[in-house]
Amino acid sequence: MPSYKIATWLHSLPQTPDAVRVKIQRLADAGVDLLIPCVKQVDGLVDYPSEVANVRPEYQGWDALMVAAEEANRRGLAIHAWCCDFVEGKGSRLLAEHPECQAVRDGRATEDWAWACPRRTQTQEYLLSIYQEIIDRYPVQGVHLDYIRYADGFCYCDLCRESYQRETGRDLLARGFDKWQQPDAHDMDTWIAWRCAPVTAFVRKARAIATAGEKELSAAVFHYLPGQLQDVGQDWEGWLAEGLLDDIMPMNYSQSTRIAAEWTRNHLTAAKGQCRFWEGLVRHRSWSTERFLHHVRTVAAQGVDGICIFDEPNVMDEDLAGLCGAKA
Ligand SMILES: [Zn+2]
Repeated sequence: MPSYKIATWLHSLPQTPDAVRVKIQRLADAGVDLLIPCVKQVDGLVDYPSEVANVRPEYQGWDALMVAAEEANRRGLAIHAWCCDFVEGKGSRLLAEHPECQAVRDGRATEDWAWACPRRTQTQEYLLSIYQEIIDRYPVQGVHLDYIRYADGFCYCDLCRESYQRETGRDLLARGFDKWQQPDAHDMDTWIAWRCAPVTAFVRKARAIATAGEKELSAAVFHYLPGQLQDVGQDWEGWLAEGLLDDIMPMNYSQSTRIAAEWTRNHLTAAKGQCRFWEGLVRHRSWSTERFLHHVRTVAAQGVDGICIFDEPNVMDEDLAGLCGAKA
């Protein structure tokens, strides 16, 4: 039996109750420890019968997440329900009802890739109410944060400009921008701290409702620390230092085993054993099972608590047998 646990992300639950049960049975029988199904997608729709967000038509009239959670509980497979947070798309109820919440890039709202401004109270309350609904309703073991960050080049909305002016005395837009849409180097550390603050504040609130609901809190995070502080305002080292997460999954999607292992060592150094540590690895379709298992075992040998695989449809039966070994 491997000395580390196995988890997998699943980007969409199957679209019939029987297919959901078959999926759960396959993973549980193989000995997988944790399944992380996405229930709020990047288009803003949710894949369970929510009263807060708009529901994808395929998931109306039945409850895919409840079927998955009940079947998984019967079979000893843990579930963390996964939400794509600040990214909202054409299906977003938040942006339909509160268009002022749409994040702004350098003065222009984007059309196809809509994000919500993390600094706005309405944005945070909306997303937290989705997590609260899941926590209250479902027998899942945890909830999972993703897109828990800014998008590169956002946000320059009126509220962000007012906030920056108030806190720094400077006009966010008047500073001038480099090619990455960021203020010049003179302001960089101030800007990083100001931009990380609302994202970290959201993680604190998610921690509070998860704890109150007796659920675990996990998060998928960028792999290339500390560059993500500057690019997307995601201070996951700070979250761990505050004890905000039970599980962290850096998304390490290199096709090079050497690079993936080195990134893993960097992540472990940053995480300092402050929560359960799962390295997130992609299962490239072109790989043989042997190639994939070599990748997993090399990374796992760096000292992880678990490996989290992106994503379940790419994981072959032979992969599962090799991953879970004697547990199967
Ligand atoms: Zn904003």
